[in-house]
Amino acid sequence: MPDVMRADLWHQMADAAGLVNADGTIGETIYGQMTKLAAQIGAVNLGQGAPGTEPPAALIDAAAQAMREGFNQYAPGQGFPALLDAVAKQRRRDFGQEVRPEQVLYTCGATEGLTAAILALLPRGGSLLTFEPFYDSYPAAVAAAGGELRTVPIMPTADGGFAPDWTSFDEAVTGAATPPSIILINTPHNPTGFMFSPEDLARIGEAAAAVDAWVLTDEVYEQLVLDGGTHVPPAVAIADPSRVVTVSSAGKSWNATGWKVGWVIAEPEVREAIQTVKQFLTFTASGPMQVGLGRMLSEDPSFVDENRKSLRERAEMLVPACRSVPGAIASTPAAGYFTVMDFSALTDLDAFELNDLLAHRYSLVGIPVPALCRPGSAAHEAYRTSIRYSFCKSAADVDRGAQLFRVLAAELRTNPEALRSAAVAR
Ligand code: PMP
Ligand code: GLN
Repeated sequence: MPDVMRADLWHQMADAAGLVNADGTIGETIYGQMTKLAAQIGAVNLGQGAPGTEPPAALIDAAAQAMREGFNQYAPGQGFPALLDAVAKQRRRDFGQEVRPEQVLYTCGATEGLTAAILALLPRGGSLLTFEPFYDSYPAAVAAAGGELRTVPIMPTADGGFAPDWTSFDEAVTGAATPPSIILINTPHNPTGFMFSPEDLARIGEAAAAVDAWVLTDEVYEQLVLDGGTHVPPAVAIADPSRVVTVSSAGKSWNATGWKVGWVIAEPEVREAIQTVKQFLTFTASGPMQVGLGRMLSEDPSFVDENRKSLRERAEMLVPACRSVPGAIASTPAAGYFTVMDFSALTDLDAFELNDLLAHRYSLVGIPVPALCRPGSAAHEAYRTSIRYSFCKSAADVDRGAQLFRVLAAELRTNPEALRSAAVAR
């Protein structure tokens, strides 16, 4: 058999995403690893952000109807018009973002949209700047494009919130000898739930304009604002929207992460460049789902409000239980699926060791936040002992998770050293 190492791009992508183990073997993503661990030991899986609740029956019916109507062969490269029109309509209706259907491109989830945009718009040897912690596909896509990933931390604040380090941002953009070609903003942010304000976004837009960078967005949690605020798309707050490439998807808003219906929105010639790459990744996918979702987005988007309400109820079940753990700090998320818990006052273990201990001893599995950071970075250090827990699971799982956090809290009240080190705790 030819040597699989003869080509090295796949290995560079794995390496960029932190998947190469010390012995050279390739590991699974942290989401896959933690889902497997939870299943193996029968722990409650508050790790991977995969909803434990179903899409609405009307959405399933709409996709089934599209199948019966014959939308079963390759979709047009740009996507079915029903979806392109619906996305343009939805952006205007929900966020006041003016979008023409010729700007919209269907992608196989936000993941393909982000990868295709990075492959199309990042010059070889160029850099992409994003905020850290970050979603795990970003470094792999940047490696595939032959570029360099740079990061600015979103740091925990004294009041239990989060804030980007703007001094580092300025240094990394207008202060850099070789400024980034792309600035990637994930808002609302995974894992912190931080939402960039219109002022933050305008500031990023000005910096991008000063160095002629693209602004690429990842807005997959756009409908899941939990604290009564509103999501502001970067393309709305940034003075020159033509440099903004918007990416989002239906997975989170409609509890349909497996359908992989996502989209990119950009000026037509930019959309075309991204489509050129995208067509050689999947060509097209999810035809009947595109049509079914398009109809729902246009005609009956009310489920999105119900879903937000239900998610808020599950956050209200889990977060107070996390907060009952004496000495831990659990964030109250402004948006999204997750709370971030900082255990630094309670343990000498790092987040990986602690997550393992909590899994085996208390049946609680989360995602260690340093897995979403670059080793050695300021964010990696700041989140050294932080674990992300998701409340997007079924109400029964979230309730079970909440009960387990209360068990942990009770134990720590009698023995505050229970998590201090593996030796003490096991
Ligand atoms: N970006 C972020 C921040 C995410 O959390 C996820 C996970 N769903 C994605 C992108 C990927 O989205 P999709 O499933 O639509 O590819
Ligand atoms: N976006 C989800 C998360 O952050 C799941 C991602 C995945 O499994 N690739 O948990």
